[in-house]
Parts: sequence; C-alpha cells; structure tokens
Amino acid sequence: MVRSPAIVDGRPSGSKAVRTISLFGATGSIGRSTADVILQHRDSFAVEVVTAQSRVEELAELAAQLGARLAVIGDPAAYESLRDRLAGTGIAVAAGPAAIVEAASRPVDLVMAAIVGAAGLEPTLAAIDAGADIALANKECLVCAGALFNRRAAAARVRILPVDSEHNAIFQSLDAANVAAVERITVTASGGPFRTFSLDEMRRVTPAQALKHPRWSMGPKISIDSATMMNKGLELIEAHHLFGIESERLDVLVHPQSVVHGFVTYADGSMVAQLGAADMRIPISHCLGWPNRVATATPRLDLAELGTLTFEKPDLHRFPALSLARQALEIGDWATNILNAANEVAVEAFLAGRIEFLDIAATVEAVLEQAGKTVGGTEFNAVDTVLALDAEGRRMAAEMIEFRGRRAG
Ligand code: NAD
Ligand code: MG
Repeated sequence: MVRSPAIVDGRPSGSKAVRTISLFGATGSIGRSTADVILQHRDSFAVEVVTAQSRVEELAELAAQLGARLAVIGDPAAYESLRDRLAGTGIAVAAGPAAIVEAASRPVDLVMAAIVGAAGLEPTLAAIDAGADIALANKECLVCAGALFNRRAAAARVRILPVDSEHNAIFQSLDAANVAAVERITVTASGGPFRTFSLDEMRRVTPAQALKHPRWSMGPKISIDSATMMNKGLELIEAHHLFGIESERLDVLVHPQSVVHGFVTYADGSMVAQLGAADMRIPISHCLGWPNRVATATPRLDLAELGTLTFEKPDLHRFPALSLARQALEIGDWATNILNAANEVAVEAFLAGRIEFLDIAATVEAVLEQAGKTVGGTEFNAVDTVLALDAEGRRMAAEMIEFRGRRAG
C-alpha cells in the first residue's frame, strides 16, 4: 500500500522553535541552496555539522556564515588548510570519510543528505541510526541500498522527507488519510537539454552541452543524468521506495516548462499536483520547515504570463536509460544497485571525455547484463553487502569502458 512520510507510528511531528540541522554536501548545489534558506531564517535553525569533499575554502566560509559547530572535509589532505582557515572561530574541524560518518551520528533534529552518489549512503544511514529525520536529496543512496534503507529508517522511526522536486511535489499532494485511494503517481521530467535531439545528434554532444540544463541549475552528475534521462529512471526507483508504490502504477510525463513537478491520481479521478518555479529552495524549505511552511524569497510563478503548459510521453527509444532503470526496479535491489554504480562510473568517464554520450546508457546496459550472470539475485542483509555489490558494479563498468576505449583506440 502507498505510504506517506507524514505518517510515522508513535512520533509527533517535530515543529520545535529552533531546529538543529546538519548539512552533508554543503558546498554543492543543494547544499548552497539549503544554506541560503537557513540564512534567511537564522532564528529558526541551529547548524551542527557542515561537510564537503574537497572545496575547503568554500566549506570554511559556509561553516563560519552558518555558525556551525563542526566542519568536516572528506579529503584528508585538506585537514590542515581547513583547520587554519577556521582557527579562532571555535568551530571544530575533522577530515576523512570516517569523520564524515562519525559527524552524521551527532544528535540533531534533521539531516540534509545532499552528498552526490552512493558516497552518501554511509553518512545517511549513520544519521538515521542516530534518530535524525532525513531531508533526502541524495537519491542514489536509496537506489543503491533499496529496501535496506527503508528498514533502517523504520527501525529508527525517523522520517524521510523528499527534497527531490518531483517527490516533494508528490509528498505535498499525498493526502495522508487517503493513501489507500491512490491509483497512480506521476513524476514529471523536463526532458533535459536533448529532448528534441535525434539519436544521431546525441551521438556527438559534448560534456559542456550536456551540462547546460534548460530549466534547473544543478551539480554536474545530476545534470548529465538529466540529459540521458537516467535521472528520471533513478527517480522512479526513488518514488517506489519513498512511497511504497509498485512500478506499474508509476508514470513519467515529459513537461518541458517544469512547472508541475509531480501529481497523484486518486480513485475518484482527482489529480492533485504541486506547482512552483524551478527553484530547489522551494522543496528544500518544505522539508526544513515541515510540517510548517517556511517563507522563501523564491520567484513566484506567473501562470498567465506562462500561458501554456505542455506534456508529452517520454521517448524510450532515444532515452534508453529510462527503460533500463525501470527494468532494474522490476528486477530488484541488486539490479538498481548495479545500475547506479555503473551509471556513476559512466557519467564520470563521459565528463572526463573518455566515452561518448550514448555510451553512458550502453555501458549501464552491458554491466547490468553481465552482473545478472554473476551477482544477480544478491540479497542485502547488511550494508557491507550493498557496498560490496556497488564496488563490483563500478569495477565491471570501469573494465568495460577500458575495453571499449582500447577497441576504439
Ligand atoms: P553537487 O555535485 O553540486 O554537490 C555534491 C556535494 O557532495 C558537494 O558538497 C561535494 O563536496 C560532496 N561530495 C561529493 N563527493 C563526495 C564524497 N565522496 N564524500 C563526501 N562528500 C562528497 O551535487 P548536487 O547537484 O547538489 O546534488 C546532490 C544530491 O542531490 C545528488 O544526489 C542529486 O541527485 C540530488 N538532487 C540534486 C538536485 C539539484 O537541483 N542539484 C535536485 C534533486 C536532487
Ligand atoms: Mg528531480
């Protein structure tokens, strides 16, 4: 049955005067938008931890601005630089992946999970175990760990509040009292920069073209995922886990204006949607303030000026990543884990100029097929299994890319 994040047994909905927050992936696109919302509401939030992987100068600046108690940099070599920059501020510093996970165990009301990729899994699980509600931007950690992620959240009785704009729209459209009457859930997609490109045109696109999203300003990995539409595939898997709805009742609808972010169709024929400007500060604010509303200075939509909204079916032939993700979802957690790992490696290779755009989905498809014969059916009973499978998916993808490169060269 469909679930709503608004229902968690036995826990009151937290709406304290001052909420304590930790911000993982603070220097990224979501991290910065989150900092922006917090800075506009300084009296409502107290920041405990900020983290980043390598941008030490930006991290130090954010830590000072937000008045964080601890700043953690993923790259151990950057420890001294961070320490020197924050000397005399009273902000504690740490470095390394283990320090990021440890920082996630600090007790807070809410953790913004905005690290990119499966790298966010361990810190997010540590935050769950420590009892924090999670504002989840980091969809890959859910795609990678599948049902195990939900089991951990249920055991700790924490809420997972969806930051991803489509899922946030669905959360806002879900009537918690009537989840049994949900017929279908639809995520919309802008279609990305290559919505109208032929396959032949897509063959020649450069990373710079693929990074230029028509509607949203985002980090590099999700921008490429939007161009291949793998992002929408990951979002189908994300919706399945967040709302407990099966693949057959999950739809993707291309909507180039990105005004309607997602909707729920009920048994009486009602379709309930959320609309808003394409600005991530809106869903971020919804998660930070929930169940209350937080005022934002984001642009308001002028529907009369917009005039027309259009919708079309996704073209699975030109965007095979979407079908691959749906297939993986229907196969099970091991397959979505492999899909995610292979995609992360392929996206990196494309950005580094080592493979072509269409090779991203081709690599994922080939890895999924090969993995089916070797690790297919692997069940996740512990995080170690999840991480081992993720490593295996990365290894297979790297090997395949290397092989293709040698054949081409
Ligand atoms: P980004 O690349 O702009 O930022 C990523 C952040 O993660 C940075 O702070 C970086 O330092 C940190 N990071 C990177 N690798 C790390 C590692 N190995 N260990 C620890 N930290 C690491 O990415 P983004 O666009 O902000 O996206 C973050 C997440 O939110 C992604 O999962 C993305 O899919 C999701 N998301 C983003 C948007 C958006 O508009 N940007 C929208 C919906 C969902
Ligand atoms: Mg999205």
